[in-house]
Amino acid sequence: MTERRTAVVTGGGSGIGRAIALRLAEDGFATAVLDLNPEAAERVAEESRGKGYESVAFGGVDVSDRMQVNAAVRRVRETLSPVLVLVNNAGVSGTRSFLKITDESWNRIMAVNLNGPFYCCQAVVPDMTEAGWGRIVNISSSSAQSGQQFMTHYVASKAGLIGFTKALALELGPTGITVNTIPPGFIDTPMLRATEERGHLGGSVDYHAERTPVRRPGRPEDIAAACSFLVSEEAGYITGQVMGVNGGRNT
Ligand code: NAP
Repeated sequence: MTERRTAVVTGGGSGIGRAIALRLAEDGFATAVLDLNPEAAERVAEESRGKGYESVAFGGVDVSDRMQVNAAVRRVRETLSPVLVLVNNAGVSGTRSFLKITDESWNRIMAVNLNGPFYCCQAVVPDMTEAGWGRIVNISSSSAQSGQQFMTHYVASKAGLIGFTKALALELGPTGITVNTIPPGFIDTPMLRATEERGHLGGSVDYHAERTPVRRPGRPEDIAAACSFLVSEEAGYITGQVMGVNGGRNT
């Protein structure tokens, strides 16, 4: 990379987002680690700085709040530089049988998983348009490809994010900005373990690993590797795509 570009990773304090933030720092991006959890965001930024990379934590930012998103992106620009890479990773899940899903839980899942990427994209696309270059990666879910029982609200939000990706890619293609989505499947993170603990995984992590074609759960680094490629210079002809990273569970 000839010049240092700034990458924002939402939900960068934990799991998949943490791995993506660390990987993009290694790739030469200045990273802005946005997360609801300030301590977690700071730990990840500190981990990158410890390896000599430029990384700043922006904690206490709720992506479902447009004002907070706009304020955080302004601070990222002032502290680092205009945002040329955005990874919409922050997400919340939930498991509930369909008739027991409350308005509150439906709205919260939509607010974080779908409104969040909408607000974040609107906040950073002007920077990318100005530069004539940008990369957006939306972390959706393989459950939106296959369906998942007891997760109607979550699956609907992630299916929405896949549609959002396709539509935005068409609109932004002429401006040098690519928009793609990675739907992870069965990645060993705190979110997956919490679902297992609640007994809502339909079996243990080990049980599912035995039935996964590559015979293991995914690692956050598997998603980070795909994301690293999609935000690279050489991925410029790839846009509007759904790049599954799921050990062969969905094809
Ligand atoms: P995770 O370990 O729970 O990490 C999610 C991070 O996002 C946490 O640091 C969380 O902070 C943060 N976050 C939650 N709500 C936020 C908000 N409103 N604003 C800003 N940050 C927020 O989950 P993960 O497994 O890494 O998941 C990352 C993404 O991958 C999610 O979008 C998820 O839906 C998707 N995904 C994961 C899997 C999987 O197998 N793990 C499969 C398919 C899709 P707090 O801890 O403070 O809540």
